[in-house]
Parts: sequence; C-alpha cells; structure tokens
Amino acid sequence: MGIKIFYILSIIYGVISGFGFLKRALPVHFLYTFTVIIVLYYAYYTYKKKIAFFNTIIAGIIVNISVQLTGGISSPLFLAYPVILPIIGYKEKSENYWIIALCLFGAEVMSSVFNHNILILPLAIFAAAIVIFGVIIEKHMENEAFLKKSLIKYESRDKFFSPADFEIKAIITSVSDIDKHPGIERPLLFYVKLIHNMFNGYTTAIFSCYNNYLTLIQGFSHSELFNPETVVDLKSGIYRQIISSGKPVLIKEFVQNPEELGYYKGEIKIASVMIAPVLLANKIEGVLIIDKKAGQFSDTDKEKFVEAAKSAGFLIAMLRLYEQKSDEAKYLRFIADHVEELHTELELQKILSDAVQSFRTVMECNDVSIAAVDELNNIGEVLESTNIKEHRKFSLDDGLVGSIARHKKFIIKEDLSKGDFVVFKKGVKTKNLSFVGVPIQQDDELLGVIWFEDHQTKKFNEDSARVLNILASQLSFAWQRANLHNRVKELSIKDGLTGLYNHVYFQKSLEEEISKGKELVLLFFDIDHFKKINDTYGHQAGDRVLEFLGKLIQKTGIACRYGGEEFAIILPKHTLKKGLRIASSLKDHLLKSEIKFNQAKIKITVSIGVAHYPTDAKTRVELIEKADRAVYKGKYLGRDRIVIAQTMERSGEHDRSGD
Ligand code: GH3
Ligand code: MG
Ligand code: MG
Repeated sequence: MGIKIFYILSIIYGVISGFGFLKRALPVHFLYTFTVIIVLYYAYYTYKKKIAFFNTIIAGIIVNISVQLTGGISSPLFLAYPVILPIIGYKEKSENYWIIALCLFGAEVMSSVFNHNILILPLAIFAAAIVIFGVIIEKHMENEAFLKKSLIKYESRDKFFSPADFEIKAIITSVSDIDKHPGIERPLLFYVKLIHNMFNGYTTAIFSCYNNYLTLIQGFSHSELFNPETVVDLKSGIYRQIISSGKPVLIKEFVQNPEELGYYKGEIKIASVMIAPVLLANKIEGVLIIDKKAGQFSDTDKEKFVEAAKSAGFLIAMLRLYEQKSDEAKYLRFIADHVEELHTELELQKILSDAVQSFRTVMECNDVSIAAVDELNNIGEVLESTNIKEHRKFSLDDGLVGSIARHKKFIIKEDLSKGDFVVFKKGVKTKNLSFVGVPIQQDDELLGVIWFEDHQTKKFNEDSARVLNILASQLSFAWQRANLHNRVKELSIKDGLTGLYNHVYFQKSLEEEISKGKELVLLFFDIDHFKKINDTYGHQAGDRVLEFLGKLIQKTGIACRYGGEEFAIILPKHTLKKGLRIASSLKDHLLKSEIKFNQAKIKITVSIGVAHYPTDAKTRVELIEKADRAVYKGKYLGRDRIVIAQTMERSGEHDRSGD
C-alpha cells in the first residue's frame, strides 16, 4: 500500500518537475530533504532485492533532483542519467525500461524548453545512451527468456515422468545425466504413433502441463514445420480453455491460425483438430492433440480419442513407476559405490575426509561436517569439514549438532535465517540456510554427528534424512573398524604393563633409525637388584616399579621395554653428550624418587649403558651389544651408574695391557 502511494507521488513529482514548477515553488532545503528520503527508500528496497518498476522511477527522480539542484541541463550531473540507465534496465521488463527512459528524457527536454536552455550535446548523449542500453537490455532479456524456457522444458519433462519423488531426483540429476528420459519416453512415442495412425492424423502430440506451460513431450508429424521443442505459454491460446475446464475439444472445421497450436514453425493449413486432457487421478497432467490437413474428425472420433487420452494417462502412470524404481536403484548403487570406498580404508582421518567429499556429491549441497562426540564430558570436536576449521571443540548444550547428539535423532531446518539458530557453537555463524544432521551411531554407541548445509532454503526434507541415515550408519561401521584397527595396532607394538614400545618395535625402530644414516644414542637401563624387590615386597610391587619407570622415561625419545626389567631408549639425532645429559637427568630423578606400595616406600637405582652410532657401532646388532656390555660393566663396577661404551672400550684395552 505504502509502495503504491509512493509510486503515484513519484509520477506526480515527475510531472511537476518536468514543468520546472518544483524548483521555483519549493525552497532548496526542502529539495535536499526530499532527496535524502528518496535515497534512503531506494537503498532499503535495493537491499531487500525488490528492485521493481517504481523503484527504478525513483532512481530517475534522484538524478532529476540532483540535476535541478546543480543547474539543470547545463549541469555536469546531467550525465548521471546515462549512468542510471543500466540500473533502470536491470531485471526489469524491457518495456518498462523504454517507458521510464523516455519519460525521463521527455521531462528533461520539456524542462529545458520551459527554461529556454536547450543544449543539444547533453540531450544527444542522453538519447544515444537510451538507445544503446535499450538494445543491450533487449538482447539480455531475450537470453533470459530463452533460459527460462529451457528450464521449464527440462523441469516439466522431469515432472511429467516422475512427480512423486521430484525432490530426491533434484539431488540425483548430478549423478546421472540430465537428459535421462529418452529410454522411457520410447513407449510413449510408440503410443503417439499408434494414435496417429488410428486417426490418420497429420500431427499427433502429447504435452505435459506444468507451471502454466504446456511442454511437448512426444510428437509425430508429417510436417517439416513441426517443432518438437515446443513450449506453449498457457496464459493465452486455445489450450487454456481445455486446461481450465478439463473437457475435450473437437474443432471440426479449424479456421483459426494454426500457429495458435504452438507446434508449427511456419504457415500451414490445418483442417480439423481434436484435443483431450490427459488425466491421472482427476488431475490434468497434460493434453493429447491430433490435427488433420484435410477432412474432418467426427464425433465418434472424438469419443475414441478421449479413450485414447485416458489410456495415455495409464501409460504415463506406469512409466512414472518405472522411473521412480530405476532412480531409486541408481541412487542406492551410487551410495553403495561410495560406501565401498569407505570400507576399504582403515585410517579414521582418511575415512572422514573421503566421506565428507563423497557425501557432499551425493547430497549435492554446499557443506558437510563431521564431529566426534564425547557424551561423558558433553563436548564435541569437529574432525572434518568443508566450512569449519578442524578440531574446534564445542559444548553439546549449544546448538543443533549438540541437540542431535543428545537426542540421537536427525534434525532438519529449512531456513536457518528464521530464528536464532546455533549450528554447532555459539558465536560461530554459517552462511548457509538449509541444515540437516544425523547421529553417527552403532547400536547404542554414539560416535559423532554428520551434518549438511546449503545456501538455498528448503534443500533438505525427510527423504534426505532417510538417505543420510543410511550413509551415517555405513560411516559408523567404517569409523568403528578404524577404531578397532588402531587399538589392535597399538597392542601389537606396545607393552601391556608399562605402555612403552615392545621389543619387536624396538628392533624395527632402531633398524629404521640407523638406516637413515644420522647419528643417534642408545640408552640401555637395567634395574639394580630387581629380584630383591620382588622377593621383599612381592611381584606386584615389582610390577609397580616397572610401571613407574615406564612413566618416567615414556616421553624420552623412543622408549621401549626391552624385556623383564630392562629398558631401552633410542635418541635419534643425538650427540653422545646430549644423550649422556638425558641419561644422568633420568638417573638423578630416580635418586630423588620413591615408589609407594602399600605401606612401603621403595627406592631403586639403575645401571645405564650408553652407546653412540656411528662412533661405537655400524649396525643395529653391534650397537645393542655395545650398550648391553656397558650395562653389564656398570653392574660389575658396583651398579647405580652410567657407563659409556667408548670409555669402557678404552679401559678394557687398558685392562688387557695391564695383564
Ligand atoms: P641386577 O642388579 O644384577 O640386575 O640384579 P637383578 O635382580 O635385577 O637381575 P636379574 O636379571 O637376575 O633379575 C631380574 C628379575 O626381574 C627376574 C624376574 O623375576 C624379574 N622380572 C622380570 N620381569 C618381571 C615382571 O614383569 N614383573 C616383575 N615383578 N618381575 C619381573
Ligand atoms: Mg636384568
Ligand atoms: Mg636387574
């Protein structure tokens, strides 16, 4: 209402301004205020994307006032007119462009005549700009119309064959090819041909009725002028009546212009026409039409033709069912293919990133994210996402994702902008509008949540959620398997009591490090008089001591339990000096520690052997032997000490020489 009043006021303004009354009658500061109001109004509606006919007039008025305020046609601002012309034309009907542009031009010519100030050059530029932009806009509109028609054609064909699951098919179109009907359209073509022969027609065609357009689905004609790409606007023409009444029409003597039939590209003579609606469950799905070049269709022809249209309805129902089933199969196959990829992978991170990519393709949406969920601590963590930084943590109390985790149920939001929705974390906004998320769970164990977002509203529905549940359950299998795999892998390389790497891993790892050719230090530990601890306090106390030592050295290099109460630490890229420093700091730490077991406080010492690669040995076996012998030497010298393999060598030689 307000808009309409404004519209009328704008026109009145245009007239007054054109005669130059405004400037003479109103004080300048009023005009300034008026300009500001109009600019604000225009900005608001442009922001709301409601650029319409009257808004473009307002753009004209803004310029008009500016021109008046700065001295009319001789003002440099006069050239702003050509600048706003494309704005006027943008997204407008081209007729509107011409009306507005010519009105503006007329008003300016008029006011320059009244003010005795006719300047040819600015007016000529203005006129030329109107024509140039007009031509460009016409061209643009033509393209738009063509695109719109193509879209209508595609959509109506699709809808004609499978309206029941149109939403899901909208997802599938990317997977299969766009033009997927030809196969199932063949029976319809044969049927049209059959009717054509039965009634001895010149052209026979079946149209779908969708979105106020009739789109030719299948046709058969003897005419070269027949256009199989026909799309007819239902706003006018002879079809309109049939669609609104649902009754068949027989035109015994066709005297109208045959171009009204819509499917001839040129002049042609048609004698008689029959049109019958194609009904399915009392709904008009399309029309069946036949024409004749000579002779007339009779009333009995009409009765038979109506029957034929009815059968066409049944045929279409069957084709739809077929299409639906084959689409479902195609869809499931697509899911199966992608799911298979998931099941061959064992690394969780790879599984999740594959899932995000392939599920995004399946759902044809902008963003996909997966978060792990820790129900015990009520937190989630984003593990993989196309639009969120990984490893972001969030509370399960905050948003939609948390809610999915807590209730273990899917959630669909058609438009996130309506309402104060938090997707996963307070304060983190998404650009998307549609949302659907499902829990990833195995039996009762919740692993995480997967959610999908899209720029469009209403992208997801219950069907999408159904598909997502299938995907999520497949993902949960892969996820659990990855977890299991990780656990088994851990078990195979770790020692159960201390959590350090085991002997096998130690050997493998040392070999690997040596093969890199870089220097390293090997520390060998042996607990002094460990047997005594077992004997005095029991084996459990002994175990506790081993655990304690395990924890102590855990973070130092590659720490391993070599066997029994012997430990080894590989220190890659360490000089002997650096290795020694570590050994002595561990030893110092032990000196200060006591291990509590029941009432007892146990103190331990260790003998440590230190060997350096490549100074002391060239191979793994040799290096271990050197370190081992150093430990042995430490025991011999009285325990609780660090022995360096190199000095031992030297002292060993010395010993021998002293013999
Ligand atoms: P030394 O100072 O010469 O090393 O004396 P030691 O008693 O530590 O040496 P020895 O090698 O004779 O004894 C090691 C003992 O460690 C023997 C074994 O019973 C004990 N042992 C080995 N593995 C474990 C274990 O997992 N738990 C416990 N409690 N004891 C273990
Ligand atoms: Mg020992
Ligand atoms: Mg020992």
